[in-house]
Amino acid sequence: MELITQKVKGTEDILPADSYKWQFVEEVMRSQAAFYGFREIRTPVMEHTELFNRSVGDTTDIVQKEMYTFTTKGGDSVTLRPEGTAGAARAVLENGVYNEGYPLKVYYITSCYRYEKNQKGRQREFHQFGMEVYGAPSFYADAEVICAAHSIFERLGLQGIRLELNSIGCPDCRAQYQQALREYFTAHKDALCPTCLSRLERNPMRILDCKSPICSDIAARAPRVLDYICPACQEHFDGVKSCLDAAGVEYTVNPTIVRGLDYYTRTVFEFISDSVGAQGTVCGGGRYDGLMEELGGSPTPSLGFGMGMERLLMAMEAQGIEIDAPDGCDLYIVGLSDQARVKAFQLVQEVRRSSLTAECDIVGRKLKPQMKYANKIKARFCMVLGDDDLAADKAQVKNMVTGDSVTVPLGEGFLDAFFGLHVDSVMSETAKQFGEP
Ligand code: ATP
Ligand code: MG
Repeated sequence: MELITQKVKGTEDILPADSYKWQFVEEVMRSQAAFYGFREIRTPVMEHTELFNRSVGDTTDIVQKEMYTFTTKGGDSVTLRPEGTAGAARAVLENGVYNEGYPLKVYYITSCYRYEKNQKGRQREFHQFGMEVYGAPSFYADAEVICAAHSIFERLGLQGIRLELNSIGCPDCRAQYQQALREYFTAHKDALCPTCLSRLERNPMRILDCKSPICSDIAARAPRVLDYICPACQEHFDGVKSCLDAAGVEYTVNPTIVRGLDYYTRTVFEFISDSVGAQGTVCGGGRYDGLMEELGGSPTPSLGFGMGMERLLMAMEAQGIEIDAPDGCDLYIVGLSDQARVKAFQLVQEVRRSSLTAECDIVGRKLKPQMKYANKIKARFCMVLGDDDLAADKAQVKNMVTGDSVTVPLGEGFLDAFFGLHVDSVMSETAKQFGEP
């Protein structure tokens, strides 16, 4: 088979044999979000490029190297979202969602696009679950979003996810810190990569985030932001830590975390798993009190996180966490004649209109391959209909596990009879699971 083309580099297909795992994880995320009082927001896959330049920041790796930007036929510059925060903030401002009152809590599950070196845990199209809180300046909000992220790892049964925490201060205290960094990096100017050299004047903190080995080696010995934060930021940071202590969520303070996007203030954090190799950060987030103002809105303290779905699923797989495949089929009906096939089709629709699943042949197979198929889809019960059964208006339903057969009416009373059999079979299976005789 020679296909005319293949998938774009850095993208992945999520196939039927795996999609249930994604659905399971998404369902956990949705339900945890609901427990924490968050509602979903869906925003377009593309935004005006200006949005990301301004919010993510034009000295970041994302804006400088990774965005999928193109000019539309109308001449606008448009970018596929590299992350979820900026679009959510824009939508909240543009639609006046803040009029609903604060705190406003939203979540998203979305695809993101970054032109990055394709490797394990790093794709060009990937997926994020994110939570955003607007209008909550208190450190309780920081602790709440961290607890919400943590609760998802707990619900998924993931072990050994480390929480690393830092504060990068507010614009006031950061000015001093940036100056200290500028002096430090200027002394190492000759060794910095060209991108970092260009960041030296405008935003030396970004150099701390550079992935080049030489720059990161220099960055490792740079001044630490925690030595520069003002009393108000220190108090906020202490508040976050004491809330996490109270909630029993463990963390370590890592003074080197600065996050890769410009909009962060005060709290920044990452959840890191050792199960997924070099790309171990499964979740990153923090506070961005200046973001809404940067986008032209009123000053609105905001915060949140983005969680990488691919890395999360990789960590689950590496830890051998099993996700149950969806149940097979409740009833498979074979029709032996044209007339019986019509009856099978009719009964299948009837079963489906109730809450159970049913299948009949849509391929045109004979009896034997149909039975093979019924086994493949793990049909719990099977019914073979011939003209005799139609004439008698009843037929045998076979329990595929026990081999027992029971006669059921085909007309009125069919659903009741089949439901009864189904309930008995589920109950005896459950009893077996719990060790009853
Ligand atoms: P990294 O340092 O690994 O590049 P980042 O700081 O760029 O991460 P964020 O922008 O904070 O990542 O995105 C939040 C999360 O989204 C990350 O922690 C990660 O789990 C996931 N993520 C980011 N980029 C990718 C990617 N290219 N492929 C897969 N997942 C990604
Ligand atoms: Mg990155």
